[in-house]
Amino acid sequence: MLSEFDLIKQYFTRSRPARATLGIGDDCALLTPTPGTQIAISSDMLVENRHFFAGADARALGHKCLAVNLSDLAAMGAKPVAFTLALALPKADPAWLEGFSRGLFELADEYDCELIGGDTTKGPLTVCITIFGEVTPGQALRRDAALAGDDIWVSGTLGDARLALAGLRDELPLDAATLALAAPRMHAPTPRIALGRALAGVAHAALDISDGLAGDLGHILKASNVGATLDVDALPAGPALATREPALRRRFCAAGGDDYELCFTAAPEQRAAIEAAGARCGVAVTRVGSIEAAPGLRLVDRAGAPYTLSDGGFDHFTTA
Ligand code: ADP
Ligand code: MG
Repeated sequence: MLSEFDLIKQYFTRSRPARATLGIGDDCALLTPTPGTQIAISSDMLVENRHFFAGADARALGHKCLAVNLSDLAAMGAKPVAFTLALALPKADPAWLEGFSRGLFELADEYDCELIGGDTTKGPLTVCITIFGEVTPGQALRRDAALAGDDIWVSGTLGDARLALAGLRDELPLDAATLALAAPRMHAPTPRIALGRALAGVAHAALDISDGLAGDLGHILKASNVGATLDVDALPAGPALATREPALRRRFCAAGGDDYELCFTAAPEQRAAIEAAGARCGVAVTRVGSIEAAPGLRLVDRAGAPYTLSDGGFDHFTTA
């Protein structure tokens, strides 16, 4: 039987060169910030049966837990540096730990983000990661920085994660090929780190879309004390959702969760710079609306007619 310390040593301690001044093994890790940078910090907790299905593939889960944290750094325009991992496990299952740590470190290595500590305890499967990044002071993409007149942009495509969820929950029929196309967007989100960093100092406000675009954009509007008009027909549907009927496309693009794309605002003078940043990073960027002084979010269709959204954003305490 693995002890807590064997488990940490075997699955979570690595000997490769460390960015941290002191890594796993002491009471605290020590991180020395790069001179002239600010530290961006974020935590995300994933709970079994709440954020992922019981019995979820361990490797995919390792990827997803870190990906959602990296996505927060991307949304701030920060460069990943390090993270901690707090883990509650029902049992020390070597096959699970092997898969989970593999998925976790594959992504960590891709973004050069180092595991520097954590905590391990017995309990219902819960994964909490705290991530640390660096950003040039004054360049972080804050939610309170949108200005009337800004364009609203989204990265990548929307809605496929929500479509996969609908298929898995039997909300609507989904053939195997469409599910196979959409499911990776739900299980393995791609954090838009390169794009976020390229937007730092160029865009005004940004966030990552985890609970649905309309609801999440609402956070920017509230924090920035502005309103917006969003064209639901301009929203870039994922390849699986793009094959479905317009009504579903609009609904899942505007309010589907788990996309982990960036929604950001920028002055119209920055259009060329933003297109170039997207091309450089290999990520589509699409202009989907504009920020206005009048408060509230106005959804319209291609013809400018008001569009009513049946689903609001996801909220853990008010959404069933
Ligand atoms: P403490 O008793 O001070 O809470 P622990 O005995 O829990 O410390 O942890 C010992 C070391 O292992 C610490 O450096 C801690 O950061 C690290 N650690 C514990 N759990 C994990 C984990 N799941 N992943 C990475 N490091 C961990
Ligand atoms: Mg401890």
